[in-house]
Amino acid sequence: MAPDHGFPGHMTYRGRFAPSPTGPLHAGSLVAAVASYLDARAHGGRWLVRMEDLDPLRESPQAADQILASLEAHGLEWDESVRFQSQRSAAYEELLTQWRHAGVIYPCACSRKQLNANQGRHPGQCRDFPDWHSSEPVALRFAVPDRTDHWNDQLLGPQHYQLQAEIDDFIVRRKEGFYAYHLAVVCDDIDQGITDIVRGQDLLELTPLHLLLYETMKEPAPRYSHIPLVCNNQGQKLSKQNRAPALDDSRASDNLVHALSMLGQKPPAELYRSLPDAILQWGVDNWDRSPLVGHSNAVTENAGRNGHVHL
Ligand code: GLU
Repeated sequence: MAPDHGFPGHMTYRGRFAPSPTGPLHAGSLVAAVASYLDARAHGGRWLVRMEDLDPLRESPQAADQILASLEAHGLEWDESVRFQSQRSAAYEELLTQWRHAGVIYPCACSRKQLNANQGRHPGQCRDFPDWHSSEPVALRFAVPDRTDHWNDQLLGPQHYQLQAEIDDFIVRRKEGFYAYHLAVVCDDIDQGITDIVRGQDLLELTPLHLLLYETMKEPAPRYSHIPLVCNNQGQKLSKQNRAPALDDSRASDNLVHALSMLGQKPPAELYRSLPDAILQWGVDNWDRSPLVGHSNAVTENAGRNGHVHL
């Protein structure tokens, strides 16, 4: 079995919120921020913020500032300085060098057309005959072993997966030179000593990849808790692509109480009239993970507006 988590119990909890700055914070990303914040504070832990700004083509230069201003307006104060992944290229490059020497990554020049002709999966020649001296631009892929395994999510319980069948050899550095999310997220979670990851269920199926990277690096894996996604009335995950509206920071108290409801917490009605700090303090004092346990359905955005959400 892949490690459940490898941190000794006495280690101080270190959690984080790691947005990709593709747009301003919306109701869905606030729920992820609040959940990771409350879980960290309720455990007497630290809570960090990291900007996963790896893809300049999808990100807007203002979005990171907007997100940070929005977190502040909601009283979500982070510990330590904000880390920007765009400034971490040297660390990622070092990791790639180690992986190259360990023989776990290989260069791949395949075009989208070639991959599509093979049901979107990687055909495998580059893995079997890696050409490190290609003059073409190459992506770097991680050679995923063929294996069935399981791991344990703190909220959703045992998760079974079959590595190669479900997951193709994934890219760790793109042809354009951008570092991939999987590489950067694990590299930084290790470097920042993150013990506990609370994040949306859209990332649940990617977790085996991350566990594989921890294993490759012989590092203890964090505890993972995947929380329900927030969807719009059409059942789509709130995202910039689905035009999720930016949070109105002037209504921070309403937004926070709503986020608590979406997490199955039961904030009293009078909390709507409180300031963000008091709302978060109530959230920490009353943090209850039980409504989230085993909850694998999405929550509809408007569900919490007029009362409690029964998850
Ligand atoms: N940056 C990722 C996102 O915004 C989240 C990363 C994570 O929490 O592991 O979807």
